[in-house]
Amino acid sequence: MSRDSKNPETIVLHGGYRHDPDTGAVAVPIYQTTSYQFRDAEHAANLFALKELGNIYTRIMNPTNDALEMRLAALEGGVAGLATASGQSAATLSILNLCESGDNFVSSTDLYGGTWNLFANTLSSMGIECRFVDPTDPENFRKAVDDRTRCFFAETLPNPKLQVFPIQEVADIGKEFGIPLLVDNTASPIICRPLDHGAAVVIYSTTKYIGGHGTSIGGMIIDGGHFDWESSGDRLPTLNHPDPSYHGAVWTEAVKPLGPIAFAIRARVVLLRDIGAAMSPFNGFQFIQGLETLPLRMRAHCQNAQAVADFLSGHPKVTKVIYPSLQEGEMRRRADTYLKGGLGGLLGFELEGGMDAGRQFIDGLEMFYHVANIGDARSLAIHPASTTHSQLTDDEKEATGVSAGYVRLSIGIEHIDDIIGDLTQALDKV
Ligand code: PLP
Repeated sequence: MSRDSKNPETIVLHGGYRHDPDTGAVAVPIYQTTSYQFRDAEHAANLFALKELGNIYTRIMNPTNDALEMRLAALEGGVAGLATASGQSAATLSILNLCESGDNFVSSTDLYGGTWNLFANTLSSMGIECRFVDPTDPENFRKAVDDRTRCFFAETLPNPKLQVFPIQEVADIGKEFGIPLLVDNTASPIICRPLDHGAAVVIYSTTKYIGGHGTSIGGMIIDGGHFDWESSGDRLPTLNHPDPSYHGAVWTEAVKPLGPIAFAIRARVVLLRDIGAAMSPFNGFQFIQGLETLPLRMRAHCQNAQAVADFLSGHPKVTKVIYPSLQEGEMRRRADTYLKGGLGGLLGFELEGGMDAGRQFIDGLEMFYHVANIGDARSLAIHPASTTHSQLTDDEKEATGVSAGYVRLSIGIEHIDDIIGDLTQALDKV
């Protein structure tokens, strides 16, 4: 076996970390420490001046999280990772790394609801405008660009529509303007590597499939290392203009000796430093344990979800099944282009009988957990119209693809007979 393997099954066990340099420990130790003893005054000065990379304070970096960062970056084909306290903080820091008050960015409308709120309300209250566009036509991104547009944002496999985002098409439009594409790949690790298709940065809620155990909240930002931030010039002032918060550093120049990691370094030493949304090392350890089995789990999630899609498609009480293998035309082409080795573990379906039927079905489940989460090893279900999407207007529900009888499933890795058995008995009760 080569330690530089490109195979995900090997990277998740060996990537980026061999053993603890001091103790030889093979499992990554939990470095539950706030601070790190400097060797001497010069060492401390070098670390603060970024002449040398090393541990200063766990709000900014931690050896346990460093192992997770290197492993996930290797898995994605990126050059650097940055662990964050949650998926939400990964999205927030990614946008704030490029946008300042008065700037704007263009986002796909097909987003996790929490990200929608962050973009439409919280960032907008800080003077950063999100321009939402329909990703059905990639050209919509071009139409929304102006001089103050700093980045594009999208999810690879957004629920509930489960229509795969045209990554390469939009990344190519962005490059014409010097604009990077940031992609949330939370729902499709292993089956998609957005950096291979032109995305500049990948973000994760590690809370979901990366962990798989449902014990920890966390996030990750991965810098692809191939976007030419420097050539974007005035288009990306946070990386190309002097930073008053760091001795006037121009990040694209300052990090040259360290590699093409301007985006990741600024997010760490400016935003994590100032905002403090750091991952706890204990959670970092938990994600490392989960990551070890991610390729195996994703295979099982995808196989089980396809079997559930087939089962539900033939059920008399189900009026529609939403799963990429059932899509046609351009949407099917995108799924086949960007997803490899499976079409994901998320699936939706609509029940005849609307709101009441949806709620009865959820109450009838015995094995599935009824939770507002996805990506757990266990099967999960929710009725969005009465929960996550209940505050939306009817028009918004239609735009987001959530009808009254819509049920969202996150298919787990239990035996397929037990998954279908639970769905069958719950459908019988409707
Ligand atoms: N991105 C996606 C696609 C999600 O589904 C979620 C959470 O459900 C998030 C981001 C936010 O992640 P977290 O809950 O870890 O903050």
